[in-house]
Parts: sequence; C-alpha cells; structure tokens
Amino acid sequence: MSLSIPNVEENQIFRPDSSDIIRIDELSRKFGSYVAVDHVSLTVRERNIFGLLGPNGSGKTTLIRMLCGILRPTSGKAQVLGYDVVTESEEIKKSIGYMSQQFSLYSDLTVIENITFYAKVYGVTWRQRKERIDEVVNIVGIKPYLNQLSGSLSGGWKRRLALACALVHKPKLLFLDEPTAGIDPVARRDLWNLLFDLSATGTTFFVTTHYMDEAERCSHLGYLYFSKLIACGHPEELKEIPQVTPEGCVRYELKIDRLTEAMRELLKMDFVQDATMFSDAIHILIEQGYEEELKQSIQEKGFHIKSFQLIRPTLEDVFVTLTRSFGKE
Ligand code: ADP
Repeated sequence: MSLSIPNVEENQIFRPDSSDIIRIDELSRKFGSYVAVDHVSLTVRERNIFGLLGPNGSGKTTLIRMLCGILRPTSGKAQVLGYDVVTESEEIKKSIGYMSQQFSLYSDLTVIENITFYAKVYGVTWRQRKERIDEVVNIVGIKPYLNQLSGSLSGGWKRRLALACALVHKPKLLFLDEPTAGIDPVARRDLWNLLFDLSATGTTFFVTTHYMDEAERCSHLGYLYFSKLIACGHPEELKEIPQVTPEGCVRYELKIDRLTEAMRELLKMDFVQDATMFSDAIHILIEQGYEEELKQSIQEKGFHIKSFQLIRPTLEDVFVTLTRSFGKE
C-alpha cells in the first residue's frame, strides 16, 4: 500500500494575503442540540503563544479540532495559515503540527523510530529527513533516549517526544492540547522554556492549559466558558478590565488563620464585594476606604491577621470574576 505523502516544501506555503496565522469569525459547533462552541471570534498572529483556558467541557478541544480541519464547524468561518477550515482542510492538516491530549506514540517503537515514522507521514523528503530529525532531537533534548522504547519513557519525556514528532515537518503553527497535563513541575517548566525558544524562532502556538502560571507566560489568552469566549487579550490587558476591579474598589491579599471561617465572616461584611480563597490566602475586593474597618472587625471576631497587602488582580482573579458575572447575566 502506498501512502500519499505531501512534500515538506509545499507545507511551508503561507499565503501572502493573510497577515494573521489564525482568524476565527463567529465559529460555532453543535453536537445534536448541544452547542459546544458558540460564536467564537478571535485572531492569532505570528509568533504569538496563544493560551486557551476554560473549565472542562467548555469547548477547547472542539475549537482546536475545527481549526485543525478535523471537525466541520456548524456555522461561522475560520482561516488557519490563510486556508479555510472547511474547503481547504487538507492543506491545513499538512501545514500544522497538532499534539492532541491522546497523542499517538508507538510504544513498541524506539524514540528515533517514532520520529522517523512521523517524518515520513508528514512527507519530509528523504534528502531533508536526517537533518530535520537531528534538529528536532536537539530542540527537545531527547538524544540520550534515542534507542529507548517510547513506552518506557517517563510522562515528561513522552511529551517531549510527541512534541518532536509534531515539529518534524517544521510547521509554522503548532496546536498543543494540554501539553503539560500530568507531568511534574520541572518537566512542565522545561517544556515551556522550549515553547519560548521555538516561538523566538518563528513558530506560533495555540495551547490549552489549566495552569494559571502557564497562562501568565502566554503572549495572549482566551477564556472559554460554557462554549463562549468571555475574555480575550494580553494577560496584562485582561487584568485591567474594569469589570474585574470596579471603580471605587480595591483588591487585597489577606493571610489569616482559619481561612474558611474567616472567608465566611468576610462575606457577611457589607463593604466586601467579593472574596476568593487561593491556597494560603484570601483575595478580597472591598470598597476603598474600608480597610481599617475590615481589619478591626475581623480581629474582633478572634482572627489573627498575618498580612494584609494591596494587590493587582491575578489572572485567576480575572477569570473567577468574569465567570461569576457571566453567571449573573
Ligand atoms: P474541553 O476541551 O474544554 O474539555 P470539549 O471541546 O472536549 O471541551 O467538549 C465540549 C463539549 O462538547 C462537552 O460537553 C463534550 O461532551 C461535547 N462533545 C465534544 N465532542 C463531542 C462529540 N463528538 N459528540 C458529542 N458531544 C461532544
């Protein structure tokens, strides 16, 4: 059986009339009557690391699958690398890299055999193959494991190998669906450093994640909630959204003993607009000028304040606030 193999040089075609790497306009996808992606519009530019966040089931994978040309939208339009996701999906599949949550590595093949297999599938010509394979092996730093069976690698190394396979045809755009799920913090940091290196050399990333520290590292973010894109922009821009810190309000980080009980007491106070627990602290949004009253009231109730500091909203504050206000609409 012969495999139809696209030529890698063709993969590099990027239409000159398209300045955006991804352009999405009112894209929707229904499964039966359920709307999994609801009129999403956004743009991703070259070298962006675009992070897509949102709770489980909010539509992230469905959106990625439409952008990769694997799933047909119900309505709306999208272009990826200048190609239409419906009429030119084959071009898209050849030109992008996609590391899905269930990335397929052949566990009974060695590392080098897996990379070589994907190089062939993606149509890297035999002339370019060795150079390209050496290049991705160096990029992901997997040289010491080349002859190891991929099934015996740790989670972090499996992900690096999957990344090498997704990069072997030198795509300009890479989709990564939860690339760091289930790997340890060091492997997570290493993988992100790798994404930065690649982005500096011209690769654009569209990444889903649940981790806020990863979101902070993205150049741009989108937040999907109940199938709708409820926030989109640079992380610092999102922190400036007026809805997140309404006029006349300020946000403090409070470290205190008996966090849960303290939270309950704080929420009873009229001037406290919002309070959210973050590991060992509470972020409170209060009306400006009530700081002393707050401290006094909480101390009178027998709590011991360890610290009380004015803070800018974190991304988690942004998303918590936006999802709460979305629920009230
Ligand atoms: P996320 O990636 O944010 O976790 P998904 O895009 O996987 O969300 O799923 C969004 C919603 O669409 C979920 O409720 C999911 O059950 C539903 N869904 C996804 N794919 C299908 C499918 N092929 N058939 C029916 N429902 C689906």
